[in-house]
Order: sequence, then C-alpha cells, then structure tokens
Amino acid sequence: MDLITKAPRGTQDMLPEVAHKWQHIEQTALAIAADFGYREMRTPVFEHTELFHRSVGETTDVVQKEMYTFTDRGDRSVTLRPEGTAGAARAVLESGLYAGTLPVKVSYVTSCYRYEKPQAGRLREFHQFGVECFGAAAPTADAEAISLAHTLLAQLGVTGVTLYINSIGCPTCRAKYHEALKAYFTDRQDELCGTCRDRLERNPMRILDCKSPICHEIGAAAPVILDFLCDECAEHFEAVKACLNAADIPFEVDPHIVRGLDYYTRTVFEFVSDALGAQAVVCGGGRYDGLIEELGGPHLPSLGFAMGLERLLMIMDAKGCSFPAPPACELYLAPMGAAAARECFAIAAKLRAGGVAVQTDVVGRGLKAQMKYADKIGAKQVIVVGDNELETKQAKLKDMDAGTETDIALDDSMYTTLYQRSLDRQLGAMSDLFRSVAE
Ligand code: ATP
Ligand code: MG
Repeated sequence: MDLITKAPRGTQDMLPEVAHKWQHIEQTALAIAADFGYREMRTPVFEHTELFHRSVGETTDVVQKEMYTFTDRGDRSVTLRPEGTAGAARAVLESGLYAGTLPVKVSYVTSCYRYEKPQAGRLREFHQFGVECFGAAAPTADAEAISLAHTLLAQLGVTGVTLYINSIGCPTCRAKYHEALKAYFTDRQDELCGTCRDRLERNPMRILDCKSPICHEIGAAAPVILDFLCDECAEHFEAVKACLNAADIPFEVDPHIVRGLDYYTRTVFEFVSDALGAQAVVCGGGRYDGLIEELGGPHLPSLGFAMGLERLLMIMDAKGCSFPAPPACELYLAPMGAAAARECFAIAAKLRAGGVAVQTDVVGRGLKAQMKYADKIGAKQVIVVGDNELETKQAKLKDMDAGTETDIALDDSMYTTLYQRSLDRQLGAMSDLFRSVAE
C-alpha cells in the first residue's frame, strides 16, 4: 500500500517545536484580551453558507472565489468559516447575549479556510486571533481594539509594524462616494478585470480591494472616501485619532484602505509588517455598525479585528523574537529490572500529581541507553533505581547540569524535596520572565 504522506495543498502541520510557539502566541493573545475585558468564545468550524453571503458580502473575493462550500448529507449548503466575525456575531445573536450587559466583548483563536493560491503567508487553512466588541458606538471602542492589537504585538516583541487607519464612512456618505467612484471607473472600465467590471454597478468600492495589478493601479488615482465623509463620521474619525495620540500609539492615515469584507463602516485599520513581503498585512479590522442588523438583529454598533497567526509567527521568527523555553523534564527515573520499573512508575505518578514533570522508561532500555536518553531530552535530574536502591530505600539524585550527586531517601521525604525543587525552578523561570518583560 502507498504511504499517504502529503497534506492537502495550503495546509500546514504544527510539529511539537512549532506548536510550542503557537501556545505562547495564543496564550499571550488571550491573556491580553482578558486584560481588556474580552472573554474567549468558540464557534463551529462550519456555518450555514447564507451567513457568510449576508455578512462578508456577495461581491467580495472571499465569497466569490475563496469559500469552501459544500452540500452536506442532509442537502444543506454549509461553508467552512473563512473568517471569525460572522460566526461570533451569529452566536451573540442566537444566544441573546446582546440583550444583556453591553458591550459584549469576545475573543477567539480559530482556524479559517479560504481557497487561495498557496504561497508564503497565504494558506488554505490558516489561523486568526480575533476580538469583537458588540454594542459600543463610541470612538474609544475603536481605539481600544487598536490598542489591544498594538499591545499584543509589543508584548510579543514584534518590531517593524506600522499601523494604518482610515474611515470608510457610513451608508450615507458612501452613497455619494459610490457615485464618484462609479463615474471614475466607468471611464476606464475596459481596462478593469472581469470581476471588477461586474462590481462597478453593484459595489464599486470592492474594485479598490482587487488584487489584479491593473485594477490596483487604476484604483490608486480614484477619489478617496475621506473627502466624502458626513459630519458625524468625520467627527468620529477625529476622535479615534485623538485617542490614539493620547495613548502614544503611532499611526498613519491611509485613505486607500477599504478592507476586503463588506460589513465594515467608519474606522478601518491594518497593521503592516516590513518582514512579510507581499503578504504584509498581519492584522486587519474595523467597525461594522450595520452587520448585526444585516443578520436580522437589532441596531448594534460593533467592531473587531483579526490577526493572521501564521503571518505573526513568520514576523516573530524573522525578527528573532524570543519564546519561552519548551517545558523541561525535571526528573528522569531510570529503573533497572521489572520490580524497579514498577516502583518508578508509581513514584512518577505521585510526583506528577504534585506538578513535577517526570519521565521514566517505557521502552525497556538498559541503564546506559536510558542515561543517553535522559541526556537527549534534557532531563534536569536523574535517579537510578535498581534492586539495591529498592532494598535500602536510598538512592542518588544526580543533577545533570552541575554533574553532582546527592543522597535521597526513597520515602515520603523524597516527595517533599522534589516538590520543593520543582516549585523553586518554576518561580525562578517566572522571575526571569518578569525581568525580560521589564527590560
Ligand atoms: P489579504 O489582503 O492578505 O488577502 P485579507 O484582507 O483577505 O488579507 P482579512 O480577511 O482581513 O484578510 O483577515 C485578517 C488577517 O488574516 C489578515 O490580515 C492576514 O493576516 C490573515 N489572513 C487572511 N487570509 C489569509 C490566508 N489565506 N493565509 C494566511 N493568513 C491569512
Ligand atoms: Mg484575502
């Protein structure tokens, strides 16, 4: 039989060394979100296809070209989530959370699925850390979400990222803007790609987001939305900028940002890295005041962002950001013989119950091979247990780094000693971490 050794195109395995980095990123992200009052939420990998048509928008690249949509055995059309906002909004509506205390602030780490041409930083299965804040109309909410992303990048040690912000107004200002855009693009419609010629009537703003180089070039000279903002939207945008300035969060205004999803209104923003080449946007987000109504709910001004975690990890590796050391084996118990193996197994179980990271032989190796293995896995301490040790209840505890040996009794006092050493080591690691953050 042939070995099945190839994962589907555009997917990635996270082998243990890499998964360890992911844990660090995810834990840091969710912890910072919690500091901002965002609580983790999890939603299904697939949703009714209609949800994404209604929220992401019919004329977007995501809906037109990228969704993994299929008919299930019950003849329903379902879609693997291409992003996290739609599911979160659906869940908040369905659960009635929006009728309780506002705002509802949620965070998530999810896998997303888009049928794209795989390349560095662009996958078919990728992951996002995202936050959504439902029921917050004030400009401080926009600035707070931006501040959250900014804080996370800073805490992870990411440098070389620039924040760009823009306002794409509300339906009122956009009506006038659409007219101006339509007039501009109609003059050059023969040069646009086929998809964008269709978009000209239905949603001319989407042309500004087209990845085709020629559409992009034509779009660069198009009228900008900032010139069409109504008084309320202009005021909101000024207030967001004032908050960012007050908190010393550097940004640049880029009037060309429109974002690739239809639900955005007013503030939109992107964090762009200098280390990613063509796929430079590591985080994108903005306000979506009309989305909840679009899904059949009440008027609920809301906003959020999503950060691409594969791209984030690429930046962290490129910038040499540090990650905590992988969890070490604190103690390796090396048995000689069947009786010792049973005893080591029992001691290991009891030590682990007290939070000590312990391993013992599960292969049936001789002592020499076990010592080699203990060295390879970086065990901090080793205790060899043979018939003699079992009989005298006395053994040697070897400190692998120092190369020293001390006597240890194989009785209750051993547990006290080892629990204490483990605790000391963890406290030491924690104070190292605090020191490195403070520096
Ligand atoms: P792009 O313009 O690069 O296609 P997008 O506007 O489609 O990005 P969003 O829908 O805003 O992206 O998703 C938020 C973030 O998720 C992006 O900024 C990016 O970091 C990440 N992301 C989006 N698509 C992919 C993908 N196919 N592979 C890896 N990461 C992705
Ligand atoms: Mg895209």
